[in-house]
Amino acid sequence: MIGGFCDAKAVDKAYGKVVKKPERRFNAKDTASVGHRSRNPQRRAIVDARRKGSESHVIAPDLRSGVERLGNMIAEAASIVPFTGAGISTECGIPDFRSPGGLWTRNRPIAFDEFVSSRDARDEAWRRRFAMEPTFAAAKPGRGHRALVALYKAGKIPAIITQNIDNLHQMSGFKADDVVELHGNTTYARCIGCGQAYDLPWVKARFDETGSAPDCTVCDEPVKTATISFGQSMPEDAMRRATELAQHCDLFLAIGSSLVVWPAAGFPLMAKNCGAKLVIVNNEPTEQDDVADLVIRHDIGETLGPFVGN
Ligand code: NAD
Repeated sequence: MIGGFCDAKAVDKAYGKVVKKPERRFNAKDTASVGHRSRNPQRRAIVDARRKGSESHVIAPDLRSGVERLGNMIAEAASIVPFTGAGISTECGIPDFRSPGGLWTRNRPIAFDEFVSSRDARDEAWRRRFAMEPTFAAAKPGRGHRALVALYKAGKIPAIITQNIDNLHQMSGFKADDVVELHGNTTYARCIGCGQAYDLPWVKARFDETGSAPDCTVCDEPVKTATISFGQSMPEDAMRRATELAQHCDLFLAIGSSLVVWPAAGFPLMAKNCGAKLVIVNNEPTEQDDVADLVIRHDIGETLGPFVGN
């Protein structure tokens, strides 16, 4: 283990209040991540150790050698924890946030405070969600999802941590209990007061009837997709479970994430600090590439496709 961040208390201390936030303020021109490199003490500890020559990292020179090296690491690992982001679902037709043409280039995100305090913001959030419904409804698991579920069924993966809200890991064959959703799920809704669950057709029918987002029939508080917005508190159970998984695996696979949304982006660092090997599969550089043991900067479907048959 490198550094002292292999326990949940130290992590809490490092992160402060656990609220979902992007690394920096939204800017309409943003299409890629830029970070504050030295800010995170976990990252600092790993980079310092690496500078002292105790470890090396590798950016795969081409797809073929990346897949081969990943295959060897998968074969050697007893417990693999995948950590997925929006990039694993782009081949399924769901746009990510930060790629050119991604959701941030089209719509400013609506933060939690704004949703709570403004009826207009709630109506706009629901209008956007209904506009996305044909996309979410048509999406089927892609090669990345299918490869991960093959490794799950082979007993290599105990559970998966995801930032995604699209339900595609469950649809691919993971048991719902084995999908740790850090940012919730957009395929149903919940009251933000009492937590009462609602299905989307119910919300849509009320919206069409009144022209406005419905409130909870139990406690009158606003009804929201069951997702975690920027500024909203992270789900405690999911954070605890993700911490345990990151601390007790021997291979951690960060797949399709720009690794700029916190505190989720802390899990690859936590796993690495606790002794796991870290692999990053993403078609553009991330702020954590220099702490990874293997970086594969290629398409996720192409990279994980060979593991679908496992
Ligand atoms: P992100 O948009 O910040 O990053 C996605 C990364 O994946 C980008 O770096 C992009 O270059 C890469 N990528 C896209 N397609 C790829 C492909 N085919 N092969 C390889 N790399 C690919 O997304 P994030 O890091 O997950 O974080 C942003 C937030 O977005 C999360 O809170 C998440 O809840 C939310 N989100 C989820 C979905 C979804 O559920 N599918 C979609 C959009 C946004």
